[in-house]
Amino acid sequence: MEFLRPTTWDDALAARAAHPGALPLQGGTDVMVELNFDVRRPAALLDLTRVAELRRWDADGDAVRIGAGVPYARIIAELGGRLPGLAQAARTVGSPQIRNRGTVGGNLGAASPAGDSHPPLLASGATVEAESAARGVREIPAGEFYTGPKRSALEPDELIRAVRVPAAPGPQYFAKIGTRNAMVIAVCSFAVALDPARRRAGTGIGSAGPTPLRAREAEDFLAAHLDWDGGGPLDDVVARKFGALVAGAASPIDDVRGTAAYRTHALGVLARRTLGWAWSEHIGQTRREAS
Ligand SMILES: Cc1cc2nc3c(=O)[nH]c(=O)nc-3n(C[C@H](O)[C@H](O)[C@H](O)COP(=O)(O)OP(=O)(O)OC[C@H]3O[C@@H](n4cnc5c(N)ncnc54)[C@H](O)[C@@H]3O)c2cc1C
Repeated sequence: MEFLRPTTWDDALAARAAHPGALPLQGGTDVMVELNFDVRRPAALLDLTRVAELRRWDADGDAVRIGAGVPYARIIAELGGRLPGLAQAARTVGSPQIRNRGTVGGNLGAASPAGDSHPPLLASGATVEAESAARGVREIPAGEFYTGPKRSALEPDELIRAVRVPAAPGPQYFAKIGTRNAMVIAVCSFAVALDPARRRAGTGIGSAGPTPLRAREAEDFLAAHLDWDGGGPLDDVVARKFGALVAGAASPIDDVRGTAAYRTHALGVLARRTLGWAWSEHIGQTRREAS
């Protein structure tokens, strides 16, 4: 097996173009498992770990641009304030060892419906920055990135360079159900992001469909029915309807981790719960500003 080790982004793109069968390698926490279990036997590995720019994140206007090689541990330590939803999801990934190596870039590359970074990326309206030597940069909204189980809109000659995530304009929460508390693939997961100034809400559903999903009807419902100006507690009728709309947006299957019926029920609970946390934070903030 050939081992390609570019040290610059341009060389990485050139290697990707010249070796279409080469498998990109970031933290290796998915790739090495697949090699060990003989799920894949690529002609070559394209190791991106020496491309320094992929390990950087930068503030970019109202957003944060996270290089494909920034590990979860750094998202937790350095971006929890600006991107609370993504940082919460990062805290639930694997173990400290996996969080030190694993990256959002690799989560996107794998495009598993169960990947924990996807729901907060969908909820916050993130954009994936893909690039090829032949056609340059392409910005792909997270909502258009996932095309099927472990499939994405990435072309064979493209690499993920970064993901651009809007800095949180309001409360964001992520919750995940697993069969134990750590080192577990989600049975289902959910993220909510509120933007009180624009009166908008974002959602992301994980592990309950062929791809990560948004619950668009639930988002529209919240935009119209949350008492954005009132500053009162969350209306239970609104919370329940939101939970039902989120559950209805999912299309889960029965598998070893859980049944479709359990996932549908659990998603409704996660949606109500995370909305409750987000709304409490919002009214707390509103009251602090008023006093
Ligand atoms: C013990 C264990 C526990 C885990 N727990 C979780 C968990 O709780 N939640 C979760 O979501 N995941 C979990 N995972 C899966 C894995 O850690 C994540 O998917 C992680 O985000 C992968 O990142 P990575 O950098 O290691 O990717 P890699 O393994 O390097 O790559 C993953 C995929 O992305 C492609 N790729 C990598 N970089 C690029 C790029 N720049 N451009 C294009 N394609 C690229 C690779 O070719 C490969 O197909 C776990 C894995 C293990 C082994």
